[in-house]
Amino acid sequence: MKKHNFSAGPCILPQEVLLKASEAVQDYNGSGLSLIEMSHRSKEFVEIMENARSLALELLGLEGKGYKALFLQGGASMEFVRVAYNLLETKAGYLNTGTWANNAIKEAKFFGEVVEVASSKNENYNHIPKIFGVPNDLDYLHVTSNNTIYGTQMKTFPKVNVPLVCDMSSDIFSKQIDFSQFDLIYAGAQKNMGPAGTELVVIKEDILGKVTRKIPSILDYQVSIAKESMFNTPAVFPIYVSMLTLEWLKGIGGISVIEEINNKKAQLLYSEIDLNPLFKGYANIEDRSTMNATFSITDEKLKPAFDAAWKEAGISGINGHRSIGGYRASMYNALTLESVGVLVDVMSEMERKA
Ligand code: PMP
Repeated sequence: MKKHNFSAGPCILPQEVLLKASEAVQDYNGSGLSLIEMSHRSKEFVEIMENARSLALELLGLEGKGYKALFLQGGASMEFVRVAYNLLETKAGYLNTGTWANNAIKEAKFFGEVVEVASSKNENYNHIPKIFGVPNDLDYLHVTSNNTIYGTQMKTFPKVNVPLVCDMSSDIFSKQIDFSQFDLIYAGAQKNMGPAGTELVVIKEDILGKVTRKIPSILDYQVSIAKESMFNTPAVFPIYVSMLTLEWLKGIGGISVIEEINNKKAQLLYSEIDLNPLFKGYANIEDRSTMNATFSITDEKLKPAFDAAWKEAGISGINGHRSIGGYRASMYNALTLESVGVLVDVMSEMERKA
């Protein structure tokens, strides 16, 4: 039986995507070759890469606006390094909203001065700082749109007159925002896009080429753009699955359609967390993520019974991250409202029996 998969990432993908991907592993489009046996320079794969890159820009509404999309390797963590390597000449600003933002800060410090414009570290990242100043001599400001571990999400972004860089690993393609307010967006594939092994980077080209340092080719965004995202052998299978997921998203009507479903899922789960006295939300209400709902059980004695009940219901992946404990239900694009309903039923049944 297929599980209700609430995993934080790698995570659930649309069933039809898994089916097409598994067919392609056997035989890609009747070519007599598996997708993963083919040259990345083949006509077939070049087409996949081009399609994936243009679908990403199309879905984000960034076509014809001076942006390039790349599928690179090394994960979002590699982009912590590439961003600073390519953009940080003297000083960059970072908004510290969690472990991943903190990791991005650590890497940037190898390249220049880092100003933490604000931090929610003292409250163990249970909210997004809202009021802070941004010096106007920064090379860029870096923010994290969704904090996967804590379940907080930025609902608005600072208006700044320096380039704005955003780690969107855990909420890209989940809700409609004006993506053109960002100069660089990156996201690991393994949440709303595909399997682990590639990350999407969307860059406004005119912010590049401004640092004086020499950049090794594999880390240089300008080289990747010139080589059409094929400076070296790309992650063919993760990119193909990402393309299929982006096609799926386009097919159901794009980001605005999935956003409505995501909002319904989040409303359903958060209202249960708020109304059911056995559970307590972690993140401040106004900053709650529609992707990752973090909560705990108010009476630890009930934990074994709750754990047994959700496992029995076919639910998987709701244990919280080790750094905050409790539970985390991740509701990425491919998770259905019905799956959230199953979790909510288990929670309300716990209350009824308690
Ligand atoms: N940023 C965010 C917001 C994340 O959730 C993660 C991983 N969960 C990362 C960065 C790191 O991604 P990767 O493992 O692809 O390096």
